[in-house]
Order: sequence, then structure tokens, then C-alpha cells
Amino acid sequence: MKQKQALSVLLIYSIICTFLLAGCGKQPTADEPLRRTVLAMDTVMNLAVYGGSEDDLQNAEDEIKLLDAALARTKPDSAVYALNQTGSVRDATLAELCARANDISAETGGAFDVTVAPVLSLWGFGENAESRRVPDADALSEALSHVGYESLTLSDGGATVNLAPPARADFGGIAKGYAAEKLLGLLEHTNGAVLDLGGDVALHGTKPDGSKWRVAVKDPADAGRYLGVLEATDVCVMTSGVYERYFEENGVRYHHIIDPRTGYPADSGVVSATVICADGVRADALATACCVLGAEGALALRDASDFDLILVTDDARVLYTCEEFTPEAGNGYTYEYIA
Ligand code: AMP
Ligand code: MG
Repeated sequence: MKQKQALSVLLIYSIICTFLLAGCGKQPTADEPLRRTVLAMDTVMNLAVYGGSEDDLQNAEDEIKLLDAALARTKPDSAVYALNQTGSVRDATLAELCARANDISAETGGAFDVTVAPVLSLWGFGENAESRRVPDADALSEALSHVGYESLTLSDGGATVNLAPPARADFGGIAKGYAAEKLLGLLEHTNGAVLDLGGDVALHGTKPDGSKWRVAVKDPADAGRYLGVLEATDVCVMTSGVYERYFEENGVRYHHIIDPRTGYPADSGVVSATVICADGVRADALATACCVLGAEGALALRDASDFDLILVTDDARVLYTCEEFTPEAGNGYTYEYIA
């Protein structure tokens, strides 16, 4: 998949996924969802809500736009931009996110770390695609010296976030997970909701016939195919993949998930990690962390905690921990269920 085709493939995938989830419109008219497409957080989001109103969809769209504006590191009006410029911001959303991000950083041994921002900037991720390049090694080690989640602290009883420049933070690894949680809260009173936030999915309630939702988990090697189908509800299904954002230089591919220990794109053998749990921020952050940690580390993390995983490795194995996942046969992958 070429970089310039990414958005259109994403759009096609989103449409396929939404149709799958909605049962291809087989329901009678009274059971049809209200739908809305939202362009935000650099992706195409498809919302489908059953037993809700246009106001519910509008509230959901407004919430997504609000979070996009608050959490985008490169938007000069955002709370994150203010934090990175001034080193201190009093903002309730950011304070909550930082506290939760730091907990997950500790849990993952720093594999997930929002202070990886200076390194992301050097690689050109987060900025315009034209600025992507392999950084100079000295610049990289200098940037790496400012990475470390311990420097992101809270004061004023947890209301103010502090991060002394030149350290900077990037919330791209959890923004969609946070949005997923917020939307599930807003739509809790509806009968059901399938919120596809650009490949990351949040599920509420049931289909009109009372059954669970069916989510297609995409094949990292081919966005038009899928690895299998997950039956679930009232959870977030968040996927991180090294195929999602990348550039090539001298025939080598460099992707956007950085190993904070090395400053280089993660090279763990895991090319895609899907985390399934009720907590959206946690699912989103852990998915990113699992790509950094590799299969062994990811499974050890899962053993010590309470989430489900679907991992794809660079040698075409799919390791999954949830019985509700049904592998797709005949696509070249070897599937391994891990209890
Ligand atoms: P996701 O698609 O959820 O895996 O998020 C990927 C995004 O998270 C990247 O585009 C970066 O903005 C950010 N990121 C990359 N590596 C890390 C990391 N090791 N820890 C935290 N955030 C990261
Ligand atoms: Mg993530």
C-alpha cells in the first residue's frame, strides 16, 4: 500500500467494516441505524447509532472535534501545543490523560511513553508527510535524552500538567481511545452503537436482534482483507500497526511506532496488535505498547492484566487470546489460540 493511497484505502476499509458491523443493512427499516461520517484525528470515522437521535450523533461529532482540537500536538490552539510550548497547562482533560498515560507507561516499562514526541518530530511523524526522513544519529540521541514519562508530572492537586521544555508530549497513541470512551458515555442511553474511529472500534449495546456486534479485524498486509471476526459488545477494540503510517528511504520502510528505548521505529516482530477491553485509553495505549514489546512481552503483559489480544507477527502468525475471535480460513496466516 503506497502512502498516497492510504486515505482512500482507509475509507474503503471503513465502509467495508461498517457494512459488516451493521449486518449489510438486512434489518427492517425500523431497525436501521442513524449514521454519520466524521473526518477528524487524521482519519475517517463512521458512527452508527441504533435507537438514538440526530442530536446524539451531533453530540458525538462535537465531542470528537473538541478532542481533536485539544489533543493535536501541531495545532497552535490545542492544550497539548500549549503544554509543549510553555511547560505547564491547567487543563482537566489533559491532566486526566497524563495521569492515565503515565500509569500505562509504568505498566509497560516505558514502551508506551507520550514524551516520545521530540523523537517523533525528528522522524517527521506528526508533521507534514513531506518532512519525513531518517534523522541524524546525534540529533536522535539528543532528542532521546528528553524522553522519559517521569518528567511529565501533575501539580495543583492533579489539575496542572507540567513538562519542562525541550521535553514534549504527543497523545496520538491514546487520542482515539479517549474519544471512544467519551462517545460510549454519550451514547450509553441508546440501544446500540458501532463507532468506527478509523479502524479502532468502540461497541455499545446489541444489534436490533439482540446479538453481539461482529467486528472485522483487518489484515495488516492487505487493508481489503481481514484476519477474522470478533463478536463483542461494550468494549473498545483498538488496533496499532506498523503499516498505518510510514515512509521509505533507500528501500527501507520506517513506520510511526517508536521504541522509546532506541528512538527507532519498533522492530519487535509484531506488525499489528489489537487490544480488546472496556477502557478505551488503556486499549489504545496497550496496542501501541504491544507493537514495541513484541509477542513475548505483549503476552506477559496480558498475563499480568485483564485484556484480550490479537497479535500479528512478521512471520505470518496470528496469536489471539479471545474465544470470541473466529479466524478467517485460507489467507496464509497460521492461527494460534492462547488461553
Ligand atoms: P496508535 O496508532 O494508537 O498505535 O498510535 C500511534 C501514534 O502514537 C503515533 O503516530 C505517535 O503519535 C504516537 N507514538 C508512537 N510511538 C509511541 C510510543 N512508543 N508511545 C506513545 N506514543 C507513541
Ligand atoms: Mg494506540
